[in-house]
Amino acid sequence: MNSLQFANNLHSTCENAPPALQILDLKKRFGDLEVLKGISISARAGDAISILGASGSGKSTFLRCLNFLEAPTDGEIWVAGQHVRIGSGLTARRDINALRAKLGMVFQNFNLWSHKTVLQNIIEAPIHIRGISKKDACLKAEELLSKVGLIEKRDAYPSHLSGGQQQRIAIARALAMEPEILLFDEPTSALDPELVGEVLKVIRSLAEEGRTMLIVTHELSFARQVSNRTIFLHQGLIEEDGKPDDIFESPRSPRLKKFLSSHVGGH
Ligand code: ADP
Ligand code: MG
Repeated sequence: MNSLQFANNLHSTCENAPPALQILDLKKRFGDLEVLKGISISARAGDAISILGASGSGKSTFLRCLNFLEAPTDGEIWVAGQHVRIGSGLTARRDINALRAKLGMVFQNFNLWSHKTVLQNIIEAPIHIRGISKKDACLKAEELLSKVGLIEKRDAYPSHLSGGQQQRIAIARALAMEPEILLFDEPTSALDPELVGEVLKVIRSLAEEGRTMLIVTHELSFARQVSNRTIFLHQGLIEEDGKPDDIFESPRSPRLKKFLSSHVGGH
């Protein structure tokens, strides 16, 4: 049994623990286009959930709605005890900020600040949003840089780093906010193939630490290996939700079957 399976077994014995994440009937509409049609998910602390789906199925919109980078149209979200209900008038800014503080996001295109050094990228939000002292923020940033194997790039600018290095910095930046849940939106799809492995390795180590994560990815074998649950989105709805081995070996939905067969040969 590996450490991830052990953690999962442990969790299944903690049925009464409150969910780390609960999403109820989340909807998002852009004008006439209903992109999320009612998504409900409950996840426990330590769950690593891979999210698959064809391009345009609503994966990015789903992650962006969770932290209000897009305002959802309807639904309810609980993250580590913080509750936000949408659709009951204006959602309080205070509640949105409290929710956001519990979520760390890693984007496809890294989104580092190009005019700031690696260290400055990591300490900015802890200092200005969490009110951490500069000294403590720097210590924590250095610890995280060591963790992602890039301490020697502390004073470099993002443009001098490879895509794989930039994404590892972006992961360190997300971790610096000490989020309850990490959200990854296709973290390797902007990378040259030879740089994918170093980023997946960092994400795998986070799963082994027992971090709660939602990972949108097209790296199917990675998804299967790293996650303890896989969700397949189709046109804004959960089409299938189950254990990775079941999802990958015996998909029930014809659309999932087609999706999997069109992605064979992925990493
Ligand atoms: P995925 O990440 O699964 O490829 P997205 O969540 O990016 O899918 O997009 C789902 C659908 O929502 C697509 O049809 C896309 O064109 C549409 N969409 C996404 N963002 C916007 C937006 N800001 N305005 C209008 N339509 C959008
Ligand atoms: Mg997307």
